[in-house]
Order: sequence, then structure tokens, then C-alpha cells
Amino acid sequence: MADTFQAPRGTRDILAPESERWHRLVALFGETARRAGYRAVIPPMFEDLAVFQRVGESTEVVRKEMFLLAEREGEARQALRPEQTASVCRIFAQHRPATPWKVFYAGSNFRYERPQKGRYRQFDQVGAEVLGTDDPDVDVECIALAWRFYQRIGLTRVRLLLNSLGDGEGRAAYLESLRRYFDGHLDRLSAQSRETLATNPLRVLDSKRPEDAEIVAGAPTMVEHLSAEDGAHFARVRAGLDALGISYELAPRLVRGLDYYTRTTFEFASDALDAAQNAVGGGGRYDGLVADLGGPSVAGVGFALGVDRILLACDAEGVFGPPEGAVEVFVISTVDGTDALELCDALRSAGIGADRAFDGRSMKSQMKAADRSGARVAVIVGEDERRAGQVSLRPLRGGGEQSTVPRADVLAALRSLLGGDRADDPGR
Ligand code: AMP
Repeated sequence: MADTFQAPRGTRDILAPESERWHRLVALFGETARRAGYRAVIPPMFEDLAVFQRVGESTEVVRKEMFLLAEREGEARQALRPEQTASVCRIFAQHRPATPWKVFYAGSNFRYERPQKGRYRQFDQVGAEVLGTDDPDVDVECIALAWRFYQRIGLTRVRLLLNSLGDGEGRAAYLESLRRYFDGHLDRLSAQSRETLATNPLRVLDSKRPEDAEIVAGAPTMVEHLSAEDGAHFARVRAGLDALGISYELAPRLVRGLDYYTRTTFEFASDALDAAQNAVGGGGRYDGLVADLGGPSVAGVGFALGVDRILLACDAEGVFGPPEGAVEVFVISTVDGTDALELCDALRSAGIGADRAFDGRSMKSQMKAADRSGARVAVIVGEDERRAGQVSLRPLRGGGEQSTVPRADVLAALRSLLGGDRADDPGR
């Protein structure tokens, strides 16, 4: 017997109808972003390793979780993307589009994590980025875009956590005071945090290890160290959110998984999910990133939302169910299948979802298949109909009498039977 295979660890096969719910979510995000003036960008699935290393040398994602692509000879020089912001910045540096450059993306990322519910090795994100302006209103626009998207799909238990990590001198002074603080408590920090401290004291704030909790809770916060300029930027962001009626919680110890953030940082947490995997999205400003990748010195801000986790949150809140199938009509042909072949083709071309059975099944078996298909009407062509140049229309749900119409009139008759409530209505 041949070996059987399973999906690789940390990946999932997503079948209908979940797969279609997925596509609908991604399409809705694209529509929401386009409405705000963002245009789609499609980055490659892999990049030079250095692109990711440049943006996050001290992060676990880059140090330990990258999927390296083996070279035929020698060391790996490329990696599957663990996220897409770095690629978007690399694209900007390479193509130098006009600013402000407002883009959105959707697609898979890869991180070699320990898989669990809501944490996978291949996971999808939708996201948006704006390059070329440091106007705090753009920070607000990005946050609002994500926030309204959650609202649009029906999530109500998402909280916005907000922080500013400062920039320039304020940031340097803060890092210094943070380092001094942690140095003073070295003996009470976990070994991992002591290691992290050497490369980036900010990341220690992100430690979820219980032995670090007390020290982290007492650490100085960035907001106390913001420069006048960064303080004004943050104040404007907060005022903007207030003006839009978007509530937020100040989270002075919020640092995000990747190192490149400056000034505004934010995270969206779903109270419908387990605390360990409750982040359904996050983002912030990364004003130095494009320059780090060899591009011009331009400001940037953006976010990424986890598609897998958003759908888990939708399950938990009982919203955004899977779409129905698109088959509206099932063609039953008891002669030789030719009628089904032709009618399905004609209906599909006319924009009506149509399906049929194969393998010369009996009438009874075809009727069963019609029921299973979710179609609302069966078009039946038996010997009699074929001879008379007619078809029979049988409503499958919602009652109604079977009728017979000339074959030439089938489209018009179906349109009137199916009415305006069609599966391809954008509202459905
Ligand atoms: P990040 O790129 O780490 O800022 O993550 C942004 C969002 O992507 C998170 O809030 C999660 O919703 C999602 N995410 C990150 N890593 C994973 C993963 N391994 N599996 C599933 N979702 C993830």
C-alpha cells in the first residue's frame, strides 16, 4: 500500500465552506482598504535573508523562526517571509513610488513556531502600510481602517491597545533608563531575558515568563520619556481616535514582536479568544525601516491582522458565517447528459450558478444530488421534454408548483423564478 501523507506540522488544509469564508474575509478587507485609497501590492513569498535580518536581528521571529531556503551549495541566502512589512519597504526602496504610498496586501507568512490553536507555521495576514508621511493622522487612519474592518465583519469584543515607543533622543534616553533599571534587577530576571537585554532592552518588556512579571511591571515606561515632538505626535493620534469615537487603552509596556517600531504602536486583542493567542492584529510606525533597507529616509506606518485568528474570534462571537454555495440551479438530464452539458454551460454564461450530476445516474439519484447542491430550482430534461423541446422547472425549496416551459425560454423563466435574491448579489 502506498504511504499516506498528512499536512505538515503547523499547517492546515482549509476546505469549504471555511475556505470560502476565508476568501470572503480577505475580499472584504481589500474592499475596505481600497475604499480608503489603498492599492494592492503583491510581494514575493521569499526574500533575501538580509531583508528580514536587517529589520529584526534581535527578535525571535528572525533569529529562531525563519524558514530558510536551502541553496544547492553553501549556506541559505533566502528565507520565506515571516511577515510582509519588510518586503513592502524593500519594494518601496527598489521602485521609489510617489508618496504617500498607500498599499494593502494579503497572503501567507511562515514562522517556525511551536504550533497550537491560533498559532501556526503557515498563517495568513491582511495588512496595510503607508510610506512617505509622518502625519499622525495617518496613524489614526490606519488604526481606524483595522477597527472599522473588525466592526464590518461583526466583531464586537476587540480592544485597541495603544502605546508610543518614541523616536530619536527620547527613545535613546528611555532605552538607557530601561537598561539601567533591568541591570539593577538582573538576579531576578529569567536567563532568556538577561540574554535579550544585551541586544534590546525593549524586548524584555515583551517577556511573558512568569518569573519576569514583577520586574517588568515596575519598569519605567516610554510615555514618561517622550520628547516634546513625539509627545505632540502621540497626543494628536489620541485626539484623532477620540474624534472618531474609537476607544483605546493606553498600554505603556506594549512592545511588539518586531523591533522596527517607532512612535505609535498598537495591538488589537480579542476578548473572545484565550489570552495566550488573543492578538488579532497589530502594527505601528517604523520611520527608519526603508532607510535601513537602502532606500530613502521616509516615514512609514502600518498594520497586519491575523486572518486565522480573526476567523477564530468570529467563531467565538458567532459572527461572519461561511457563505452559501453558489449553485442556484441543478440540471437533471435523464437521456444522455447532453442536455445537462449544454444547459449548464448556457446558464453559467448567463450568470446563473448551475451544476449537474455525472456518470448517467438515475433520476432519483440526480434528485438527491440536486438537494445536496443547495440549488433552488431543478431543471429537468427527460425523454418527453427532449422530444417536445421543453424543460421542466421544479422548485426545490420554498414550495411552488413544477412548470414546463419551451427550452428557448429557460433563462427568462429561471430569472423570474430566482428573482432578485441571487447568490452573486454582493450583499450576500
Ligand atoms: P505580527 O506580524 O507578529 O505583528 O502579527 C500580527 C498578527 O498576525 C497577530 O496579531 C496575529 O493575529 C497574527 N499572527 C502572528 N503570528 C501568527 C501565527 N504563528 N499563527 C497565526 N497567526 C499569527
